[in-house]
Amino acid sequence: MNFKKSQKLYNKGLVNLVGAVNSPVRAFASVGGNPLFIDKAKGSKIIDVDGNSYVDYVLSYGPMILGHRHKKVQKAVTKALKNGYSFGASTENEIKLAKIVCSAFPGMDKVRFVNSGTEAVLSGIRLARAYTGKDKIIKFSGCYHGHQDSLLVAAGSGLATLSLPGSKGVPEGAVKNTLIANYNDLESVKAHFEKHDDIAGVIIEPVGGNMGVVIPQNEFLKDLKELAHKNGAVLIADEVMTGFRSMFGGAQEVLGVEADITCLGKVIGGGFPVGAYGARNEIMENVAPLGGMYQAGTLSGNPIAMVGGIATLTTLKKQNPYKKFDAIGAEIEQSLLDSAKKYEVDVTVNRFGSMLNPFFTTKKVTNFEEAQTSDTKKFAAFFWEMIKNGIFLPPSQFEAWFLSSAINKKDMEKTKYAIYNAMKVVSKL
Ligand SMILES: *Cc1c(COP(=O)(O)O)cnc(C)c1O
Repeated sequence: MNFKKSQKLYNKGLVNLVGAVNSPVRAFASVGGNPLFIDKAKGSKIIDVDGNSYVDYVLSYGPMILGHRHKKVQKAVTKALKNGYSFGASTENEIKLAKIVCSAFPGMDKVRFVNSGTEAVLSGIRLARAYTGKDKIIKFSGCYHGHQDSLLVAAGSGLATLSLPGSKGVPEGAVKNTLIANYNDLESVKAHFEKHDDIAGVIIEPVGGNMGVVIPQNEFLKDLKELAHKNGAVLIADEVMTGFRSMFGGAQEVLGVEADITCLGKVIGGGFPVGAYGARNEIMENVAPLGGMYQAGTLSGNPIAMVGGIATLTTLKKQNPYKKFDAIGAEIEQSLLDSAKKYEVDVTVNRFGSMLNPFFTTKKVTNFEEAQTSDTKKFAAFFWEMIKNGIFLPPSQFEAWFLSSAINKKDMEKTKYAIYNAMKVVSKL
């Protein structure tokens, strides 16, 4: 396997792009080496510019849940392109996608479409403040909610990978209303509520995915909602990663908790830039033009992106791949554990449906602190051996691996074979 063309493009890219990437998670900062440049992708596979083919567990960091270039999606989008790219006025497909989304999430009567997960969350936070008339927000250490100023503290994967405590350029004033609590630790949330009476909301990834996969223990989410409500605050579920992935109705459906405000992204656009936030009527009526909270977007509800979203979600609903995801996820999890045992490597595997990853640690991982006990050098060695065996993983210990419904038996055999090889390499470190 060689990476000559990728190497060449990387060097070229450094001139006019920052680090030759448009999102820092795509840089191979913590695994060493240079990022791969992609030529194309189809189904479960992604192919780089040197012609190397990989089973794809990055899936654009989640959106490509049907695999790449699903026939139904491609057909619908190609057809839509003939009618125009953007109008700055409403289209019927916005109503259609809104209906699909609102029926998947019972806590959403109305939804507003935006262009990214970041935008969805920053608007969701604004809405929590508009609705409650309060300022402060509680977030959890290790949860990532996009790159808006106020939430860019203790923010998980991207920053953790680059060993950054927070981001430069974020003024103190921007984070003065952000309170940090520990995942799976209700007491740490209670302490904030006891000290502050102006908390608008608690935002959480209902299943952590940006510090590696971290699963809420026991009734954490239910308790959190109760605690928030008791204190006149709202629960904001950032389901940008888990929405339509954990289940069609997101992690909320699996965990049986209904958030007050839900933020979506990734799968909702099926690879096109779509984000969304939604809530009950009583809350959404605060958004302009119905209410006084302003939020807008030139390309929001983009006609092509809407069609991509509709085709993806209707196909996904029909496929109902969640049982398959669980079976395949369990199989990968088992081969990680078996190979680790065989080669005597300390590993903890966390998995929630079609999101999983190994941590190279002896500890159970239930929060960011425990995730950070993972040996990232071992992960780097594991990552490169997987690449050499034709498996594309996110280039960070603190990112989840994702499954697509396009994955087949052959892909699984290849994956398991690669895992054993990679674990063997790690055991020699
Ligand atoms: C990816 C992600 C975001 C940010 O979404 P972008 O589309 O990258 O802006 C926000 N929250 C969570 C939980 C995410 O996984």
